[in-house]
Amino acid sequence: MKNIAVYPGSFDPCTNGHLDIIERASSIFDEVIVAILINSKKTPVFSIDERKMMLETATAGLSNVRVDFFDGLLVNYMKKVSAKVVVRGLRATSDFEYEFQMALMNKKLYCDIETVFMTTSSENFFLSSSVIKEIAGYGGKIDGLVPPSVKDFIINKIIAQEGDYGCTRID
Ligand code: ADP
Repeated sequence: MKNIAVYPGSFDPCTNGHLDIIERASSIFDEVIVAILINSKKTPVFSIDERKMMLETATAGLSNVRVDFFDGLLVNYMKKVSAKVVVRGLRATSDFEYEFQMALMNKKLYCDIETVFMTTSSENFFLSSSVIKEIAGYGGKIDGLVPPSVKDFIINKIIAQEGDYGCTRID
């Protein structure tokens, strides 16, 4: 039976921190599904299709990785795709409490699943989607922080939202 892992998240947008976790997970599991959560309580900057396109572009070289999206409970999605492992990334202890709670709750809802935590690489521990949006919004450089293949897409989208961010591009 294939060992399928699901890496759920918002990915608004994807960063090198996410990509690092995806690459490392793809070397451990038979298949990794990067699952974008459709969360009606959040107002994302990037649409589901844009986030999917960015993740697909960034992971094009990883043959056992595919990108999908889901809404509702993660455990229901896990059942639908016959996956037993949830992959999550941990940066600082501040991530831990929330992640620990979610892992326990998911286990309570579906006892067959395991959550596997991967620690961030030292060069990515300060990276988050919010930080990327903030830097790009103020015209800062995001080179080396997001996958090169989607860097310009991210900058152009955020610049296009100038009304919201009041940003200018610095080259
Ligand atoms: P969520 O809203 O579910 O936290 P994110 O897109 O922010 O979605 O993050 C998805 C997953 O990626 C989470 O497990 C998060 O801890 C992890 N992650 C985010 N940034 C990094 C990073 N720089 N290094 C390692 N893991 C990360």
